Amino acid sequence: MARQRGPVCRLCRREGMKLFLKGERCLSDKCAIERRNFPPGQHGKARRPRLLGYGLQLREKQKVRRIYGILEKQFRNYFEAAARRKGITGELLLQFLERRLDNVVYRIGLATSRRQARQVVLHGHFQVNNRKVTIPSYLVKPGDVIEVRPGSREVPALLASREATAHQAIPTWIEADRESLRARILSHPQRQEIAVPIQEQLIVELYSK
Ligand code: SF4
Repeated sequence: MARQRGPVCRLCRREGMKLFLKGERCLSDKCAIERRNFPPGQHGKARRPRLLGYGLQLREKQKVRRIYGILEKQFRNYFEAAARRKGITGELLLQFLERRLDNVVYRIGLATSRRQARQVVLHGHFQVNNRKVTIPSYLVKPGDVIEVRPGSREVPALLASREATAHQAIPTWIEADRESLRARILSHPQRQEIAVPIQEQLIVELYSK
């Protein structure tokens, strides 16, 4: 599956908020939102337009896609899968996104951003239930055990990420043993456990038109 390319700080500037796409840089004063918090492009410094209706819904959808690094087609597929299920569509949509293997690797602090998590998964450093998985969009489920593969335990990028994220709280739906580079999924994530600043109802309204 393809991914978003190009300079990512522009994406944050477009949304007017930190999307935390670059790991440690996002916490430093080099962050573009700290330095240039206006939209990119020629007219960026003009006043930010006040959004209503469709514009608001569109921005919310783009924001979520960018946070999780997902292209339009795959995002739409997640939405349709969520809409087919019983329950609150917006919450189910976020649940799908959170259950992605790259997101779980990021949440347990073995990558400093979802982009980096995607890369370490693609490079074959992880296994789920003792089987190597190289698909970032792999959906974990309760009971799954995610581990760094035996041959990857000394990979500097993983160890450096673990160190850099030592202060990071682990979501309650995951039981992580960071020392042994291992985690177990306890349950599906509930909305209150998904710490992303999103009004998912706006996305449901957008796609339900
Ligand atoms: Fe966004 Fe991080 Fe770039 Fe800041 S440093 S603008 S949070 S990607």
